[in-house]
Amino acid sequence: MSPRLSPDKDWTVCENKIDTENLRFQETTFTLGNGYLGSRGILEEGYREGYAGTYIAGVYDRDKGQSFELVNAPNPLSVEIDVNGKKLSIDDMELIEHCRALDMKRALLLRRSIFMDAGRRYEYESMRFFSLRDMHTGVMAFSFRSLDSDARVVVRRAIDGTTKNEVQAIGSPIKHYMVTHTLDSGNGVLYLEAKTSDLGIVIGMASGYDVVTDVEVKSCTNEESVVREFSFNAKRGKRYKFNGYISICTSRDVRRSVKAACLNELETARGYGVPRLLKRHTRAWNKRWQYSDICIEGDLPVQKALRFDIYHLLIAAPPRDIDVSIAAKALSGEWYKGHVFWDTEIYVLPFLIYTQPRVAREFLIYRYRRLKQARDRAQAQGYKGALWPWESAASGEDETPQTWVDFDGSVIPVYNPKREHHIASDVVYGLFLYYQITGDEDFMLRYGAEMIFEAARFWASRVIYDEQRGQYEIREVIGPNEFQECVNNNSYTNALARWSLRYASELYHCFGKRHPRKLKTMTREIGLKDREVDGWKEIAEKIVFLVHPDGLIEEFEGYFARKDVTINEWGENGMPIWPSEPKLAQAKETQLVKQADVLLLLYLLSEKFSLGAKRINFDYYEKRTIHKSSLSIPSYAILANELGKTEKAYKYFIQAVNADIHNIYGNTGLGIHAAALGGAWQIAINGFAGVKLKDGLLSVTPILPEHWQSMRFRIWFKGTFIEFSVSEEGTEVFIARGRKGLDVELYGQKYFLYQGERVSAKGTGYIGG
Ligand code: BGC
Ligand code: BGC
Repeated sequence: MSPRLSPDKDWTVCENKIDTENLRFQETTFTLGNGYLGSRGILEEGYREGYAGTYIAGVYDRDKGQSFELVNAPNPLSVEIDVNGKKLSIDDMELIEHCRALDMKRALLLRRSIFMDAGRRYEYESMRFFSLRDMHTGVMAFSFRSLDSDARVVVRRAIDGTTKNEVQAIGSPIKHYMVTHTLDSGNGVLYLEAKTSDLGIVIGMASGYDVVTDVEVKSCTNEESVVREFSFNAKRGKRYKFNGYISICTSRDVRRSVKAACLNELETARGYGVPRLLKRHTRAWNKRWQYSDICIEGDLPVQKALRFDIYHLLIAAPPRDIDVSIAAKALSGEWYKGHVFWDTEIYVLPFLIYTQPRVAREFLIYRYRRLKQARDRAQAQGYKGALWPWESAASGEDETPQTWVDFDGSVIPVYNPKREHHIASDVVYGLFLYYQITGDEDFMLRYGAEMIFEAARFWASRVIYDEQRGQYEIREVIGPNEFQECVNNNSYTNALARWSLRYASELYHCFGKRHPRKLKTMTREIGLKDREVDGWKEIAEKIVFLVHPDGLIEEFEGYFARKDVTINEWGENGMPIWPSEPKLAQAKETQLVKQADVLLLLYLLSEKFSLGAKRINFDYYEKRTIHKSSLSIPSYAILANELGKTEKAYKYFIQAVNADIHNIYGNTGLGIHAAALGGAWQIAINGFAGVKLKDGLLSVTPILPEHWQSMRFRIWFKGTFIEFSVSEEGTEVFIARGRKGLDVELYGQKYFLYQGERVSAKGTGYIGG
């Protein structure tokens, strides 16, 4: 039944013992999924600390006036085994051998455990996956063997409808659904239907099993769960195999009866059988990896960690037409309630734009479909244009909770929706990048430009003209450094607002020339005229930007006057240690920075700043940034590399790439850090491989860590799929698919690349080998 473990160490994440202190961490790292759903890596037999989390993309609900959260759906994986009346589990028996492996190449979770009780050994093996090819289908196959004696065995296979959302609702778990229907057909089909409490979304789950001979079967279904029980006298040494099929559908994704859809999917799955389902799934994954893998020679731990990050990004990306985006914890946990932040556009989206541009397009359409709510939100706050929510779920309303438990346990009010307005430019940045890399003009005309114009309108109404200064200010904001909760003229916010206004005006004039009719139709609809656009440019030229003559940027007005605290100690994992003073609540009175703010600006708008300016800001802010968010490290790594601080760049990269696989932030158990996954990818591709956009041209200047022998990767650029191979010999490029030819810049020199031709270039940049 179980396919052998992939022998490739760099494709497999293994666990050889159960670390009871870190069960939640392992559940997150072993999460399976296919973008339609995410399923935490629980041990299927359950255990005291276990947290069965099953999340279906876009299925949010809420409780008593609270904000919407991702629903923890029923658990379709439950397998309980009693041997001679005792439960096979880490709570009740001794686990004497154990191996669990996430095979990232095929997205399978494989397991072999030997339990011991009263001197007798029992073996349990399992394999499970959620199909990438057949998105409503999963497989839960397992086997049991009594190794030393005959035994009386009862296996209970269930769809468990008792799960709750416990993680964020500390102390008072919430069950977001009611089980409305259960069915045990008696001939191998179990079905459970549930309805979410507020929105009434119907979730259907069916499970089919191949009926095993010599086994008594009985139904133990109750009001909350469908349970089928198999009892048998296990012969010593004989393996008892159970093939389980799972199907999942909701009323969000099927029009007709959810039950009919589920049963139909299940029948199809059973018709295929496990080997064929596995083949279909594996083929789909092979294809996904062809487009996304990064091969690194000379650094096995990094190779594996980077694949782990890419694996988790791939299982986070929803299939087309589901109308969702990627949440801060993707579909691997409930922290941040499954909400979508700016993390998506700034950290995750670049990976998708370069590897799966069509999926990236869907994310941007997710924002477009919620443009009306964004307009209403801007208006409700007294502004014009569109302001996307700080935290978003299905509807596009702002879902940010009103209070929050801070790092030190204190409950604090949350001001982000009212003030963390840089989200308006972050969405524009995502659109800009998508357009630059894909050249998808149709998208821009239909969706992108309108969003960009509405964001410009927002900024034009958000700024305040200061007569004395003769400049526009943006007051009372929270920048990416959230320690400071009400500042004026945060440089990140101001610079991105300025950039958004300029970009909107450029796009307006460019489309005015290229697509006058289409532009007119759209601008007529939103009542946009030339005069308003002229106003954007004028404002942009006069927005306050706090920069000293030597290039040092002040994070916000008055930042340099705050108490100066620098970081002097670092932990084993290389992360800064919080200084003895100030306490968290006083951090706002100092120059301590939670996460890259000025540095992120220097990375995103890299072309606009000189190396000198980057250096001076890097050196200043590095000493003051505590990296209390996983969003912080990537800009540091990328800028360090650009500044020739190669060792430092690698050190930062290690922290980003290992954020979850090595639990660097200590909270991976709450869910994966989607932004860190995407950030690690950006360090590899936009940092070490030096992939950049230069005046619309793809420009590549690799500077690899010294001990890397080579790096190979493929990316899409304007409809062309290009393969890069970087080594001591230089960089070799060729067109793997797509257009007949393309201009690229390698090590600062322009080449025209013909299809079928390999171009090699060598620069002084590469220092590896
Ligand atoms: C960070 C935000 C981020 C959020 C979700 C916070 O800790 O400060 O920038 O959007 O986490 O990842
Ligand atoms: C984050 C904010 C967020 C708040 C509530 C904080 O940890 O830093 O960005 O809005 O949690 O979810």
